Amino acid sequence: MQINENLIRSVVEQVLSEVRSKQPSTGTSTASPNASSSAMGRFGLFDNVDDAVRAARTAFEQLRERSIADRRRIIDHIRRISIDNCVELGTMEMNETKVGRLQHKIEKLKTLGEKTPGVEFLKTECFSGDYGLAVIEHAPFGVIGAITPVTHSLPTITGNAVSMIAGGNSLVVNPHPSGKKVAAEGVRRFNQAIHADLGIDNLISLICEPTLETAQQLFKHRSIALICVTGGPAVARAALNSGKRAVVAGPGNPPVVVDETADLNLAARCIIQGGAYDNNLLCIAEKEVFVVGSVFDAMMSAMERAGAVRLSAPEIDRLTQAAMQVVGEGNDKHYAARKELLGQDAIKLAAAAGRSVDPNVELLFGETSADHPFVQTEQMMPFVPFVRCRDFDECVRLAQEAEHGYRHTSIIHSRNVRNMTKMARIMDTTLFVKNGPCMASLGLGGEGYLSFSIAGPTGEGVTTPMTFTRERRCSLIEDLHVLGGASRLSS
Ligand code: NAD
Repeated sequence: MQINENLIRSVVEQVLSEVRSKQPSTGTSTASPNASSSAMGRFGLFDNVDDAVRAARTAFEQLRERSIADRRRIIDHIRRISIDNCVELGTMEMNETKVGRLQHKIEKLKTLGEKTPGVEFLKTECFSGDYGLAVIEHAPFGVIGAITPVTHSLPTITGNAVSMIAGGNSLVVNPHPSGKKVAAEGVRRFNQAIHADLGIDNLISLICEPTLETAQQLFKHRSIALICVTGGPAVARAALNSGKRAVVAGPGNPPVVVDETADLNLAARCIIQGGAYDNNLLCIAEKEVFVVGSVFDAMMSAMERAGAVRLSAPEIDRLTQAAMQVVGEGNDKHYAARKELLGQDAIKLAAAAGRSVDPNVELLFGETSADHPFVQTEQMMPFVPFVRCRDFDECVRLAQEAEHGYRHTSIIHSRNVRNMTKMARIMDTTLFVKNGPCMASLGLGGEGYLSFSIAGPTGEGVTTPMTFTRERRCSLIEDLHVLGGASRLSS
């Protein structure tokens, strides 16, 4: 998708200034959530957890009285706003979070509007036989607490809201502090449209000043029936230890294996498409590549032909110094990506490496050892390390080590079906992609549907409305058998 970022910025700024000039000076209905504290308590915006949960509970009780068709209408509003406002909200997200790429911020919101699973995913199972009927329905949990990441602030909320409301729930969101403004603006627009059409407010409630403490309050709140966290290792651990039922969409470090049978040109194009998308912020994105030695040099040339820029060993050293730092103590000592370069453009990373590249370059790459920080760390930067391996088995062994047991995503480029099966079994990841870019696994250029919460640790996989439902069984007993049973008892 080719979009001129400056053009979009200027169009968006023009639209925003026109909208502002038409806004009334008082009142909450069109005021930005940041403009006035009087907006608090309406259209999903709250300054404390108790009020947000209480309002979301009221909204849930109202939704409970409504039909599935009404849920569909609500979701249609969220989808429509996500598509119609993708440029404005995507630009807002880019300007606030300062990570990733504008065209992908916009594309993510638009695609979410088109590809998120809604009420059509709800299923009812039925058993019928001599003893009557058993119907298994999928009922809502109630109010769900959602913790969302900075990497896709509004997209995660949008996807969560569609799935959770399709399942009949309401939600309270504790967004990442660095993406709280766009989160609040999106939530305000969704609620405003839902309220205008169906009279229900605060179905998606949000803590406007989120902190780790407000996240903890959500985890512990007695009116929160379920939590859904999307984020890195710390929040995944916190959710699993919270004592509450949790859907955990945790971190990944997706490895790619390229064997000697692969179409190297295709592999290179796919690695650039996935690894450079939103400057490598996707949790499913190609983070490190293991290549069979006999095709390693040919693969590096294929990457250059496809438009990526190869860094030399000294350049990689300089980039590593600038981009990585050691954190933690004792056994927990490990490398982590520095904030300053996280999600930044390839040109900025290249400058840190002492290299000047064309601004259109999307991805940098280079040869490293398997224990290099860029291999072992979920870098979220458009530099992808390539490791030369003896053979396919070594590729898979090193890929498994680099994935750290997250069982999130792995990718293979190969025409050898036995190798595909072998790697799939060993990696045992929630998403496994063959001969495509990572996003094919979320229905973008592949089959299936889209969600930005992929629950690996707790096993739900790519979340859908069914993820956010409880199973409920309704039994109807066949009269004749009740009578037959009664007569047997009395005889
Ligand atoms: P992050 O872990 O820094 O933050 C995620 C959210 O958790 C934020 O709202 C943050 O405020 C909160 N948080 C962090 N520590 C917490 C704690 N101890 N208690 C309560 N809340 C806490 O992650 P990020 O940088 O915003 O996002 C990137 C990470 O998210 C990456 O690791 C990526 O793989 C992961 N991610 C996973 C998925 C998935 O579907 N599995 C999707 C997107 C991102």
